[in-house]
Amino acid sequence: MFWGSRLWSSVPSDIVEARAGAKGADRSGEGVVRSRFDEAVAHYVGLPKVELHLHLEGAIPLDALWTLMAKYGGDPDVVDRSQLEDRFAYRDFAHFLEVWNWKNQYICEVEDFTLIAEAVARDLARQNIRYVEAFYSPSDFARHALGTQEITMAVRRGLDRVPDVEVALIADLVRNRGAEHGMRNLAEIAEVRDAGVIGIGIGGSEAEFPPEPFARVYERARAQGFHTTAHAGEGAGATSVWGAVRDLRAERIGHGTRAGEDADLLEYLADRQVPIEMCPLSNVRTAVVPSLREHPVRRYAEAGLLVTVNTDDPKMFGNTLAEEYAGLETVLGMSRDAVHELMLNGIRGSWLPASRKDDMVAAFRHDGV
Ligand SMILES: [Zn+2]
Repeated sequence: MFWGSRLWSSVPSDIVEARAGAKGADRSGEGVVRSRFDEAVAHYVGLPKVELHLHLEGAIPLDALWTLMAKYGGDPDVVDRSQLEDRFAYRDFAHFLEVWNWKNQYICEVEDFTLIAEAVARDLARQNIRYVEAFYSPSDFARHALGTQEITMAVRRGLDRVPDVEVALIADLVRNRGAEHGMRNLAEIAEVRDAGVIGIGIGGSEAEFPPEPFARVYERARAQGFHTTAHAGEGAGATSVWGAVRDLRAERIGHGTRAGEDADLLEYLADRQVPIEMCPLSNVRTAVVPSLREHPVRRYAEAGLLVTVNTDDPKMFGNTLAEEYAGLETVLGMSRDAVHELMLNGIRGSWLPASRKDDMVAAFRHDGV
């Protein structure tokens, strides 16, 4: 179920406004907006999809979390599923962080990672998402005395239970912990790369922890054969994106929303076809942009950047990949063909071998993308 009352809060604010505004004078207008969005969601749910910017810990289906809560004695303030849903309804970024940490307290033992990884993979497969490069942040769980290696193996066991979706892993070194920690974490990750860890990234507070100090970590990661991405241009401006591409030499940029603050940067990204992992509804939620209508995703795609579209933390923001695409079409006015190209960009910007990219593009086209 991708569209229902529970998900109502996940509708792009522009569509909510359109509905609310339509209640008075123009009821037919409301019907048009709503049905076009619904129709578009149904279209994109039916198509095969790829996702390149998804945090495993932000994608845990609530049923799986509920199971873990029961295992650890629950929370007296959250006595049933509907209260859990209320807890996850997005309010603001401070509440987001509080809920993020609150849920992580129920991920304590290594088997819990197998449970959540399997649940996330099943949820992705149900949405017709065929291939994912997913972030996970093992160092966030060090307080439970869980090692990066055992967490990684446990995640892989869960993912392998779901053959309908292939999930490669990107280890988030968590910039807030600093570059020295990142270097140590990288060494741990290298020990378990056979569990399908193909890349590294840095998430966290961009403004407080700029990319440049991580240059040596990225150099080492590259030397070890890892692919690289870095969150930039979300919490901080264009300078952070320059740091990610010039100092870190990151192959991809996570978000990149604010790259447009510098026209030279947009030209640089377009010339080099640096894939940008854009997450429009996440950006609306966290107020990086005021509304979906004002999001630069369409502008960047039309400026020739290699734009991909992703959900970031779908169970925290209440969005789905199909809704992201539907928003591009019905709110930003992109043609269906243009949105399909962005879907294929997900394959082009992935770290699959070239031959597999070609095969997957052909298979997606065959299925109507
Ligand atoms: Zn992210």
